[in-house]
Amino acid sequence: MSKIVNIVTLGCSKNKVDSEFLGAKLFELGYKVEHDSDHNSDIVIVNTCGFIGDAKEESVETILSFAQLRKRKKLSKLVVMGCLSQRYKKDLEDEIHEVDAFFGVNDLDKITSLFESEAVPGEGVLCNSTRILSTLNHYAYLKISEGCDRSCSFCAIPLIRGKHVSQTIESLVKEAGMLAAMGVKELVLIAQELTYYGLDVYGKRTISQLIEKLSEIEGIEWIRIQYAYPHGFPDDLLDVMASNPKVCNYIDLPLQHISSRILASMKRNVDKQQTLDLVKKIRERIPGVAFRTTFIVGYPGETEEEFKELFDFVKEARFDRMGVFAYSPEEGTSAFELEDTIDDDVKVQRVELLMELQQGISLEINLNRIGSVEKVLIDKLEGDYFIGRTAYDSPEVDNEVLILAQQKLQIGSFYQVEIIDADHFDLYGKVIQS
Ligand code: SF4
Repeated sequence: MSKIVNIVTLGCSKNKVDSEFLGAKLFELGYKVEHDSDHNSDIVIVNTCGFIGDAKEESVETILSFAQLRKRKKLSKLVVMGCLSQRYKKDLEDEIHEVDAFFGVNDLDKITSLFESEAVPGEGVLCNSTRILSTLNHYAYLKISEGCDRSCSFCAIPLIRGKHVSQTIESLVKEAGMLAAMGVKELVLIAQELTYYGLDVYGKRTISQLIEKLSEIEGIEWIRIQYAYPHGFPDDLLDVMASNPKVCNYIDLPLQHISSRILASMKRNVDKQQTLDLVKKIRERIPGVAFRTTFIVGYPGETEEEFKELFDFVKEARFDRMGVFAYSPEEGTSAFELEDTIDDDVKVQRVELLMELQQGISLEINLNRIGSVEKVLIDKLEGDYFIGRTAYDSPEVDNEVLILAQQKLQIGSFYQVEIIDADHFDLYGKVIQS
């Protein structure tokens, strides 16, 4: 009988994609693959995150909880992969002996080989896909490149994931076509630095050309982009967003800070004025665009005045969505050499102040949507409600639209929905047309 492998994925959507590729390889070897399952399984693979302090802690705790099961022989194998084990393999091997093997981020083939030796002959099944999705069937992440050539002072990603490597347009179109054939209607394009796409393989930024090609795939109705970078933002990306109806009017552009001094220390290659100009340009060229960003507070030397400058910017700019991280010193990064001057409780307080401010802004923006009619993709049925999303909302992180389950709706289908109520993070709607 096939052994069940549970792949537990922590961290970002890039990790999810890695887990999905691994899942398909294991399936072909005859293993039954589940993602983040609550059921008992024979084998667990933890795909870890090594981004910042909290994420590393969560990864270690998850490994330790499965190590207990391995110790009690409730698991026949425990494998750890991903960013944390890429970064701290030796330390983890020394400390956690119940783990059978640790792998880094580029070790999918090695992991497959480990399982190959124990595969049950004859159990292998040809997988109709190179990925076993961990998301709902109608949306998928498309990882267009790996690694990052930037040198942001706070970020360990280039140390973990290496230099930027773009997938070719041909290979991504093929992968997206396969996803569409599996029923995927929404593609979320992801990368560490999405706007850099193409520079390494084509000698120029080619994100807009890629999007145009992807939009020709039958069955793909929404294309969403995540993780753009302000410096060198390609103008033609705005053209394709404005003109191509399949591209969601949604942008996720981490700005990290607004103080020119801090941006310079962060090595972000833009100052305050350039940031303001870019935000203005995006909004002018894509009217009504949903703007998501992230900031870091408590960066070394961040003064009260610099935090106030950021606070005032957030108040003024009124982003649709915003995430805030407390600065975490990461070994090997250039900011690690700077003194971590801000107390943890001050960092927490600054995170809370910004989030509180954003909550009010999000509520106002959501209330303004009452009365509008929006195209909604139905994700799932939960209790009394169908849960969906508009084109302005990315899966797993943004608003959901709750629709009373009085009429039968099809999961994975689009409906015209009138927004009838709203709170901070959810909208309520009723279907007016299927
Ligand atoms: S662009 Fe993003 S992934 Fe690359 S170094 Fe900067 S923060 Fe890290």
